[in-house]
Amino acid sequence: MALVRHSGTAGAVELSFGTVKRIAVCAILFAMPTRSSVAPTLSKSSRADSLAEEPRVREAMDSFKKNLGWIAEQQARLTEIPAPSFHEEKRAEAVKSLLASEGLSVHQDQIGNVIGELRGATDKEVVLIAAHLDTVFPADTEIRVKREGERVFAPGISDNGTGLAGLLALARAIHEARIKPQRTILFAANVGEEGEGNLRGMRALIDSYRVKLRAVIVLDGSSIDHVTTKALASRRLEVVITGPGGHSWSDFGIPNPINALVRGSVRFINTKVPAAPRTTFNIGQIEGGTSVNSIPYEAKLKVDLRSENEDEIVRMENALRECMAAGVRDEMDNSRERGRGKLEWTMQVIGSRPGGELPADSALLAALRAADEAVGNKSRLERSSTDANIPLSMGIDAIALGAGGSGGGAHSLQEWYEPAGREVGLKRALLTLLAVAGLAPERSK
Ligand SMILES: [Zn+2]
Repeated sequence: MALVRHSGTAGAVELSFGTVKRIAVCAILFAMPTRSSVAPTLSKSSRADSLAEEPRVREAMDSFKKNLGWIAEQQARLTEIPAPSFHEEKRAEAVKSLLASEGLSVHQDQIGNVIGELRGATDKEVVLIAAHLDTVFPADTEIRVKREGERVFAPGISDNGTGLAGLLALARAIHEARIKPQRTILFAANVGEEGEGNLRGMRALIDSYRVKLRAVIVLDGSSIDHVTTKALASRRLEVVITGPGGHSWSDFGIPNPINALVRGSVRFINTKVPAAPRTTFNIGQIEGGTSVNSIPYEAKLKVDLRSENEDEIVRMENALRECMAAGVRDEMDNSRERGRGKLEWTMQVIGSRPGGELPADSALLAALRAADEAVGNKSRLERSSTDANIPLSMGIDAIALGAGGSGGGAHSLQEWYEPAGREVGLKRALLTLLAVAGLAPERSK
């Protein structure tokens, strides 16, 4: 993507989108008379620390410690409100009032995203920080947060309980320190990240703000040992096979959709995928049939394909189509009563996440690196499938970060979270956010 230079409005301290040098240099300028007299003498570490040393920012960072109990409470409370993709309403309602109590002007868009706005010195440019509301767990999953020592257990506690708690923690820290950003910051709790949500919440946010959007920071999960800067492309497909159906005894010999699906699936899972570029497939769901003594009239299969190279996804999609066609053909050829009914089948895309990559020289990555340095963290760059896929695929700077602490067992009923180290994660996210949003010269009222 092309990097655009943005100059601050008159009188404002400029935190431009040029380079790390400019961000760090400008950040230190609050107390300095002119840029040129300062810039050449800055050492590398003083650049990284400069934003963290600004009094307002320090105040905001210090507030995390005192709020740790509150943050953990919100995490547990929100996690216990069921929020499967497409049914995030109740959790959204709770986040909405929490963001409003942190001084943000909050609204909900048509598809249910909650957006809390912190008006900057200019609202011509915005920075979006987002955490997804939804979970992979069906509405009837029992969600009760259980504690064992330092560890808390609950489905969704880390993914994305940590991200949502982090979003609230950042809003509260900025509010308490009365920080007014240069660019408007949008705190969003978005719908539809998981599974068949297909990133619909983030797609809608990008649609609404695209023209003004300078950077997107996604808070997802806990760990801060990595940062997602590369978007893993994926495609999800559904195969549906239908037939006449009948009685297991009296109609034996008519083609059976489940048999066809199994025949096709066995062919498909024998398809070779390369280790590099890393390419994966998963048959994640099979449905069909009505009873053990009925020949089913329908069978369904859902498959997830991912690859570091989108060409491999296309190849695997073609392989799935050919294998399923062959499975249906095999079943027809082997049915004694094939004259009594034919199998039909369809394959359709139920999800598609585009790939993309944050440029190595982007201001956002520089901000993250400086934040890592300031908090003494090291993180590796990773490729993953997150809400950041959408902005990255459109050339908008975006990263996905863990919001601190550690977690495991994501997408399982044994999911857990430990808060040790949460503060470091929050400081890292705050410094990254403020570096790209910039600080207005005055505090907020
Ligand atoms: Zn997540």
